[in-house]
Amino acid sequence: MTLVETPTTSTVPLGGPSLPQERRLVTSIPGPKSQALHARKAQAVSAGVGVTLPVYVVAAGGGVLVDADDNSLIDLGSGIAVTGVGNSAPRVVEAVAAQLGQFTHTCFTVAPYDSYIEVAEALNRLTPGDHEKRTALFNSGAEAVENAIKIARHFTRKQAVVAFDHAYHGRTNLTMGMTAKNQPYKNGFGPFAPEVYRAPMSYPLRDGGLDGVVAARRAILQIEKQIGAENIAAVIIEPIQGEGGFIVPAPGYLATLVEWCRANNVVFIADEIQTGFARTGHMFASEHEGIVPDLICTAKGIAGGLPLSAVTGRADIMDSPHAGGLGGTYGGNPLACAAALATIETYEADHLVERAAAIGRLMGDHLGALAAADPRIAEVRGRGAMMAIELVDAATNEPDAALTGRVIAAAHAAGVILLGCGTYGNVIRFLPPLSIPDELLIEGLQVIGDVLARES
Ligand SMILES: *Cc1c(COP(=O)(O)O)cnc(C)c1O
Repeated sequence: MTLVETPTTSTVPLGGPSLPQERRLVTSIPGPKSQALHARKAQAVSAGVGVTLPVYVVAAGGGVLVDADDNSLIDLGSGIAVTGVGNSAPRVVEAVAAQLGQFTHTCFTVAPYDSYIEVAEALNRLTPGDHEKRTALFNSGAEAVENAIKIARHFTRKQAVVAFDHAYHGRTNLTMGMTAKNQPYKNGFGPFAPEVYRAPMSYPLRDGGLDGVVAARRAILQIEKQIGAENIAAVIIEPIQGEGGFIVPAPGYLATLVEWCRANNVVFIADEIQTGFARTGHMFASEHEGIVPDLICTAKGIAGGLPLSAVTGRADIMDSPHAGGLGGTYGGNPLACAAALATIETYEADHLVERAAAIGRLMGDHLGALAAADPRIAEVRGRGAMMAIELVDAATNEPDAALTGRVIAAAHAAGVILLGCGTYGNVIRFLPPLSIPDELLIEGLQVIGDVLARES
């Protein structure tokens, strides 16, 4: 890290990978300009829109964010797993700029354009399974989930939806009801949509290491007894749970659920909104377990930061809704489609699946060494560039949300952007952009180690 005496930039730096890849603290975090902006925010923006770390960004790229006070922070969050290709990735910037000069919006369902088809073709090709597929594009992850449920209901002519403990599927009314955690996502925002049921998840650290097949059979028994397969349109699950705590179900859990869905005319939906697009060391996390979902929801990593989401899956299911039943004004916006094509090209041409796996090995080594020396780290888990540590009270093994909060706050103060998660608020997740240089990632992890050592 470099220490600079006085802010030197009077002009805003350009983002992208050419931004100096360094941790640089010029002021305390947040600095005076960020603090002033944050005071304005409180007067102008709904208090319901919370902020994890009030540093106001002026540029970002590679593995750093630069704030209004010219601090350069190490980014271990990727804007919640969005900027896998990095901020202002060169191909994305070029493609979006070119599209801006052509046209910005027609509404695909009014007057279509080819980039939407091209994105659909790419998703049909990249998602698990070589069966015939179709795709529909939307704006946000929650909107993709909502539409996957609509499609599954239309196809099966059934209504019930099964989601899991610790699940996160979004903040719209239906997806909020499918999300497990009350605070901050649901409290006071009900009533929730009917016909949403919850089943037990496989959570090896907290279910006594229950075998994956056994855990799935337990869930299936509950589903059959409490709902009945004849009423269930869809089972939806994150192959690795995101907000719920980066929970990796035990091997066999997902495959057993898929098998049951197949046998019972229930649509199996993988919510790969956080796990998708190279993040876990495969293009999609379902591949780690060899499962082929009927439908797959994607968003976050899809378009280098532009808002886009998709539902991709079996052609017979996806073609079930009548024309006009799916869509929206902005879904598959031409700028977002241009960004998605450039983003997908970047994942493939720059071998970012392999890069995510390498980042996973690097993080696994560092975090594993920390855990070996620190009984407060109950587990290091995740896959690829989606890793987490779960923090507990070493004496009781109880979740330690207070320690987690202190570590995250101290990391922020030291110039490392970190995100928490977990039903019990005791998980720190690591989601670096795949464009981060190794040295910077290692520096970020060393900061976490130092912070943990200090927070005893
Ligand atoms: C973020 C997320 C969503 C919601 O996506 P939004 O774009 O925020 O609506 C849904 N599912 C999972 C697994 C997510 O991580």
